[in-house]
Amino acid sequence: MAKVGFIGLGIMGAPMAGHLRKGGHELYVFDLNPVPADLVASGAVACASGRQVAEHADIIITMVPDTPHVDAALFAKDGVAEGLKPGKIVVDMSSISPIETKKFAQRITQLGCSYLDAPVSGGEVGAKAASLTIMVGGPEEAFAQVKPLFDLMGKNITLVGGNGDGQTCKVANQIIVALTIEAVGEALLFASKAGADPAKVRQALMGGFAASRILEVHGERMVKRSFEPGFRIELHQKDLNLALQGARALGISLPNTATCQELFNSCAAHGGSKWDHSAMVRALELMADHEIGSNQRAAG
Ligand code: NAD
Repeated sequence: MAKVGFIGLGIMGAPMAGHLRKGGHELYVFDLNPVPADLVASGAVACASGRQVAEHADIIITMVPDTPHVDAALFAKDGVAEGLKPGKIVVDMSSISPIETKKFAQRITQLGCSYLDAPVSGGEVGAKAASLTIMVGGPEEAFAQVKPLFDLMGKNITLVGGNGDGQTCKVANQIIVALTIEAVGEALLFASKAGADPAKVRQALMGGFAASRILEVHGERMVKRSFEPGFRIELHQKDLNLALQGARALGISLPNTATCQELFNSCAAHGGSKWDHSAMVRALELMADHEIGSNQRAAG
């Protein structure tokens, strides 16, 4: 059994760490907030800092919100880097900048350790069910060593390439998700304004070429007007920001990613930073002066 560290025990990190403990591994944990009681009750050891976690564990996982949080968890005073010894492995499972990731990897590698970027897709549901998709960047030997831990947290686990490529893959994922939410929103809005029942339209389309998980899950949220997160608009804005900054650095244009970001910005301007990302449709509805399903609701 491995000695594993886990830093960042929020919506995603707490259930992921729980699976590692259930898998029988020694678990050392740290969060800026108090550590969840059920994790400690299951035998996880609460540490006072990232440095302590890294002193005890051989594989140290981070699952924090954004690039500056990973920077702080690894390199601030009493952070992970201060507790590392050569041979240890740092695994960042947060969704953060691919460019900064390469710099973090270089700094960790200079300490004689290995670094994997391993962001996930699948949300809170996937974290709890241990069915996450995990997109990994880094050296093959480190990947092979950490794979048994990934297997306890996820199902579809791919070594995409070198450091940064896991995060690049995650940004690509978030581009597809945002543009598909936008497409589903436009389609259901069009159908509803034209007088068709959007619930029936969604049902019919689920059997055809336009079927997708997003038409299924997010389309249903649009029809049922249920915009509790799920995945918060503010987190998707962070991810599209990474896409648009990356595109600028690469000298390419991502026109529809930019449009989706503007639609999220419009939602945020209306108080929607914490709405589920399917609520992007609300920005489209404002422009159309029509709410999906309003004809049916008016008819009673
Ligand atoms: P969260 O805000 O619920 O949890 C983050 C945790 O990190 C918090 O408990 C916070 O106290 C802790 N933290 C922050 N900085 C720290 C530091 N320096 N040291 C120790 N602890 C620190 O966030 P989340 O929803 O669990 O998301 C984590 C990451 O996973 C994000 O990058 C997010 O984009 C990604 N993600 C989230 C989802 C989702 O559906 N929530 C899905 C896929 C990927």
